[in-house]
Amino acid sequence: MKILVINCGSSSLKFQLIDSDSEAVICKGLCERIGIDGSQIVYTPAGKDKITKVEPMPDHNKAIEMVIEALTNAENGVVKLEEIGAVGHRIVHGGEKFTKSVVINEEVIKAIEEVSDLAPLHNPANLIGIRACEKVMPGVPMVAVFDTAFHQTMPQEAYLYGLPYSYYEKYGIRRYGFHGTSHSYVSKRAAELLGKDIKDLKLIVCHLGNGASISAVKDGKCIDTSMGLTPLEGLIMGTRTGDIDPSVVEFIMKKEGSTVADVTNLLNKKSGVFGLSNDLSSDFRDLEDAYLKGDEGAKRAVDAFTYRVAKYIGSYTAAMGGVDAICFTAGVGENSGFTRGLICERLSFLGATVDAEANKVRGEEKTISGADSKVTLMVVPTNEELAIARDTFELCK
Ligand code: AMP
Repeated sequence: MKILVINCGSSSLKFQLIDSDSEAVICKGLCERIGIDGSQIVYTPAGKDKITKVEPMPDHNKAIEMVIEALTNAENGVVKLEEIGAVGHRIVHGGEKFTKSVVINEEVIKAIEEVSDLAPLHNPANLIGIRACEKVMPGVPMVAVFDTAFHQTMPQEAYLYGLPYSYYEKYGIRRYGFHGTSHSYVSKRAAELLGKDIKDLKLIVCHLGNGASISAVKDGKCIDTSMGLTPLEGLIMGTRTGDIDPSVVEFIMKKEGSTVADVTNLLNKKSGVFGLSNDLSSDFRDLEDAYLKGDEGAKRAVDAFTYRVAKYIGSYTAAMGGVDAICFTAGVGENSGFTRGLICERLSFLGATVDAEANKVRGEEKTISGADSKVTLMVVPTNEELAIARDTFELCK
């Protein structure tokens, strides 16, 4: 079956067409600046050059039409419309309602709407993508794959905040966690690579990209993760603070005369390694270059980042009563031997050692721990689109 995977943002739409038999990507691309001047679709059919078409896309309906046109046109199309057997949608927030992927119907759409106040920037955009696909491909089954679902196995002691319990009951204020599709995919793949049953493993997955989160996966189930009610909690990220004392918000508001919205923007968009490096960059490639040239800001930012990751690894080892393997994934985790090396240097308390040669790996599955390491360190590239396609196929075959 050919499966179209859609990841819809407020002004962008990423897509991949995946063959569920071979799991090969037939075509992938991106619609940018939807609803804004200068919109374009950029896509790459497998084995061909990148194609760019600049055309007005006033809304997501037009974007989906352009995706279908790109996939089916006579000149460089890769599929006939009727061959697209199902569509898998990445949905950011499933609240407590969704513990796994589901076939989309009106009831599911209503439930996604109901939890939209938990992800006001993302869920509405995801829903627009669903409606647009319904219009352009009526009758084709669609599946919702939630970023939060994998973390729904967290026990109450891990997901509750120390707030009055009534706030959880009334408003659902709790820790949900995100990047769940990635944590699920990487933990399963790590078990395969280790040749062990996931039910016998204690794994820590470090998803270190522009957004970063870490999870403790015991016996195949997530028992804790670093993101919370929103993706702001946890690790220091590209531009997000991660954990801070909530009193900082009021303190900054008073000092700067700013609004809650201003400070929320600061915490999400101007902080993290970007803010710590004095706005040098949120990109680890720039930070590493500057670090190696002796830039103090870059060193400060990267050191705070690697310290926080190691601290979480320590706490999750305590939460699971040990750890068998630590997996690195996403942009930084897959590609940066430098940052991985700095994190692993902080893990000697676990008896972890790194094979410096193996740690040069970029974007490939590889064990990077030394022969004498007491814990396996591994790079496992994530593949959220493939995970979405697999779930979609399972529910629609
Ligand atoms: P992601 O959000 O998973 O797409 O990760 C994006 C981030 O990965 C970028 O902002 C960079 O910080 C980082 N990244 C990508 N490639 C490299 C690389 N070769 N070395 C260091 N960091 C990288």
